[in-house]
Amino acid sequence: MPSRRRADEDAEVIVVGAGPAGSTAATYLARCGLDVLLLEKSTFPREKVCGDGLTPRGVKQLIDLGVDTREEAGWLHNRGLRVVTSHHELELDWPSLSNFPPYGVVRTRQDFDEMLARTAQRAGARLLENTNVTGAITHERTGRVVGVSAKVGKDREPVTYRAPLVLACDGVSARLALSVGIDKRDDRPMGVAVRRYYNSPRTKDDYLESHLQLWDRTDPARPVLLPGYGWIFGMGDGTVNVGLGILSTSKAYGTTDYRALMRSWVAGLPEDWEFNEDTATGKIGGAALPMGFNRTPHYRDGLLLVGDAGGMVNPFNGEGIGYAMESAKLAAQCVVQALARPEGPARERALAGYPLALKQALGSYYTLGNTFSKLIGNPTIMRLCTRYGMPKERLMRLVLKLLAGLYDPRDGDAMDRIITVATKLAPSV
Ligand SMILES: Cc1cc2nc3c(=O)[nH]c(=O)nc-3n(C[C@H](O)[C@H](O)[C@H](O)COP(=O)(O)OP(=O)(O)OC[C@H]3O[C@@H](n4cnc5c(N)ncnc54)[C@H](O)[C@@H]3O)c2cc1C
Repeated sequence: MPSRRRADEDAEVIVVGAGPAGSTAATYLARCGLDVLLLEKSTFPREKVCGDGLTPRGVKQLIDLGVDTREEAGWLHNRGLRVVTSHHELELDWPSLSNFPPYGVVRTRQDFDEMLARTAQRAGARLLENTNVTGAITHERTGRVVGVSAKVGKDREPVTYRAPLVLACDGVSARLALSVGIDKRDDRPMGVAVRRYYNSPRTKDDYLESHLQLWDRTDPARPVLLPGYGWIFGMGDGTVNVGLGILSTSKAYGTTDYRALMRSWVAGLPEDWEFNEDTATGKIGGAALPMGFNRTPHYRDGLLLVGDAGGMVNPFNGEGIGYAMESAKLAAQCVVQALARPEGPARERALAGYPLALKQALGSYYTLGNTFSKLIGNPTIMRLCTRYGMPKERLMRLVLKLLAGLYDPRDGDAMDRIITVATKLAPSV
């Protein structure tokens, strides 16, 4: 095929960051025949602090991308979520739906992210590792993003790359968006999460486990119930990923020592699970979770924000991988259409379709999620929800569907219809 790349350009699309968002976008774009440059600051395999869990919502994105998610292909499946409070324990299987598979998976991000990056390479994207993008290059007259500047290799040699469109998939740091003045929105929630791996007899588990009562016992006389949850995800390889996440809507946000909280929570768990300093395989790692579209606009002047860079994490449950991949697919579809049009208004119309597609897919659901995160930021409401909600299994099944975004708006049961109506009534963020 003759190249559509102009002589002064390095690619037709530049994708910054080879996490789930970037590698997914690069794969779809390259499969459509576009010349894609995928720039990544680290070198694979590399670690990424995460819970490593995917609900069926995330697995669907892998399947859409053509990844073989069968157990025979090395994936560890789970069949649902175990919800634990001090008085109750409930095993909720993932719902059976036409639009999502009935299983979730776990896989270390060390492995997962490299697998996705190699998928993008196999599709034809040119991956440049060790390339730290420092900011966008803008056209001096129009202000449009026309490329990126970067520092390459150990010597941090300055380089520039040019293309008519750039996808910011650089995660929560959102360096690219910040370089053109697209700031975080304070009216949308954030989370903070920390995690650690332990060698543990709990490594094999058919369920993802979620602990809804997270007590901060820093002052033992006055324990405080924090809005967030702890998780225990068996990795199947002898280790367990244990972590916790807290919402910005809580008073404790920003004042809590998350690593100390993690140590105190883990110390209160049963001894025979063997979560202790001797079994820990590394340090406690932590990072922020940008939720509910907390950075907008998602498209402006040649730059699209995808995944964490655009605040795509689900405010109900803190899941971000699947949503990073979902937004990447939508971004890629719009970019492919845009680049098939001449520069100018026709192309811009196709690009304006990206924020619209996001709003359509997730806007109203995230409005509900943002409200939910405000409500449970109040410890009294959180306490009432766990005390009176947990014993009601049917209600909890509905809650699981809502929190994990696992409902079918077209062909579902009564619960699916309740959630669909709620999302229809909510305005889109
Ligand atoms: C403790 C914790 C637990 C979590 N648990 C889960 C979970 O169990 N399930 C789930 O679905 N989600 C989870 N999340 C959220 C999930 O990790 C993110 O939502 C997801 O990684 C977002 O993908 P992304 O591709 O947008 O960003 P990232 O995964 O952050 O990828 C960004 C990529 O860009 C690269 N990059 C960054 N800056 C630059 C730069 N300047 N130049 C070049 N490259 C750059 C990075 O190296 C990285 O490879 C968790 C998050 C945390 C913090």
